[in-house]
Amino acid sequence: MSDRPATDAAWTRPVPVPDDVTAAFWAAAGEGRLVVQRCADCGTYQHPPRPRCTSCAGEPAYTGVSGDATLVSWTAAHDPVVPGRPRGLAPVTIVVVELVEQPGLWLVSDLVGVDDRELAVGLPMRVAFDATAGDQVLPRFVPAGDPS
Ligand SMILES: [Zn+2]
Repeated sequence: MSDRPATDAAWTRPVPVPDDVTAAFWAAAGEGRLVVQRCADCGTYQHPPRPRCTSCAGEPAYTGVSGDATLVSWTAAHDPVVPGRPRGLAPVTIVVVELVEQPGLWLVSDLVGVDDRELAVGLPMRVAFDATAGDQVLPRFVPAGDPS
């Protein structure tokens, strides 16, 4: 483990502001569920949320997904890239994960309290829900073997 703090609870991060397209995503996260859009016409999953299907311009609707994923890539951000993030929390590891439901269905998350030397492409990851962002619960991804 690194000497980084195990949590970023002290961070008064900017919180997402749901809009008409993303409101259902954030509401589900608040209930501890991960949902993504899936096209009612062609069945393609997509993320981030969009008003129309990016494959066929059909009508997307939110559907629950497993929260199981694999690690695609990661990087360490050494500057506090988000306003308000304390320098003591840098660097932060930013990960890209692919949900098991569909190749190319990627989500971006930050990873706190995990030594990035333990990461490898293809590492099993799972969703975890972080309620430290004020009223907004954030879906984040952690290694599947992580007890947190
Ligand atoms: Zn479609």
